[in-house]
Amino acid sequence: MSETEGFIHYSRSLFDIVETEKITDAYNAIYTCKKCGSTYDYGWSDFSISVDRAFLKPRQILVPQIGANPIDPIPFVVGLFGHRLPDRNLFEKIGLEQYAKYLVELKNKQ
Ligand SMILES: [Zn+2]
Repeated sequence: MSETEGFIHYSRSLFDIVETEKITDAYNAIYTCKKCGSTYDYGWSDFSISVDRAFLKPRQILVPQIGANPIDPIPFVVGLFGHRLPDRNLFEKIGLEQYAKYLVELKNKQ
């Protein structure tokens, strides 16, 4: 399971989920945040016997963004895997503790 798959899987209980017509070849839904009402497009497809892929893309965000801006190169812990990977120079493998800190970093640290 990649980071993306993991985040989506473990955050499912935070959303109201309504299945929609297929956009990708396997499964699609609209996820609505139970707390703020922001909506996301969810898609999943069984890409091959060993690779599946899921995404959660914002449709409408109803709260201000308070998280710090993403850093470059993009940090990761478990991913990346697949048949065609983007340039490795765009990513940096870091430790779980450092990654967890990055994920909850806020824009305006006091
Ligand atoms: Zn929310």
